[in-house]
Amino acid sequence: MRRPFIGGNWKMFLDAAEGKRLAEELVDVTKDVKDRDIMICPAFPLLQVVSRTVKGSGLFVGSQNMYYENEGAFTGEVSARMLQSVGCSHVIIGHSERRHIFHEKNDLIQKKVAAALQAGLKPVLCVGELLDEREAGKTETVVREQVDEGLKGVAAKELENIVIAYEPVWAIGTGKTATPEDADGVHSFIRTLVADLYGAHVSEALRIIYGGSVKPDNVDGLMTMENIDGALVGGASLNSESFTRIIKYQT
Ligand code: PEP
Repeated sequence: MRRPFIGGNWKMFLDAAEGKRLAEELVDVTKDVKDRDIMICPAFPLLQVVSRTVKGSGLFVGSQNMYYENEGAFTGEVSARMLQSVGCSHVIIGHSERRHIFHEKNDLIQKKVAAALQAGLKPVLCVGELLDEREAGKTETVVREQVDEGLKGVAAKELENIVIAYEPVWAIGTGKTATPEDADGVHSFIRTLVADLYGAHVSEALRIIYGGSVKPDNVDGLMTMENIDGALVGGASLNSESFTRIIKYQT
């Protein structure tokens, strides 16, 4: 039985006061939620205040990105150690906005995954195809490459510290969601890939979450699917009411 994982990606929204307020509300409304992992990912300048706000609550704080070096002359970047020093336990790596707006490629993403694990940060590795790739029948090819490359060099034992987020790019922030059956099909494909790489035991334990316009009115259907172990939520995580409804999905 895989423990559900619900993440909120705040992207480049909310200032420190707004982030603190949302974190306080989430601490309050999730007090009774004990059977699932909940992560929130504020922008860098909010990480410390949000970490302090949720301390002791069981909510996890993640970063939306990191660089793979420990330190150095890398203006504008932050390291895993720096993120840990402000209370992060998780880090989103390879989000489609990083891949497609900031041109991050699989080899860079692989280095980030390795550096996060080495430092003890838990990566949420995002994969997913563009609309034209889907329409050209290339979903599995693209996802296979992203999973293979993203996990290159990762040992079987480390997979327990990784979550894979399947986020079809055409569904992110667009209001279009993959049907539960379509998403489950790709999740099942990813599980097979991981089984080929690491064995069935590791693959069965791996959490694969779905992202792409998850909302209060579609989360229940998605979460009924066998291979969907949670959600990575953008827009709907910016409001405590909608995010709480997603966290408290019912199957
Ligand atoms: C995301 O940011 O990862 C995401 C899935 O966004 P949205 O829920 O807004 O589509």
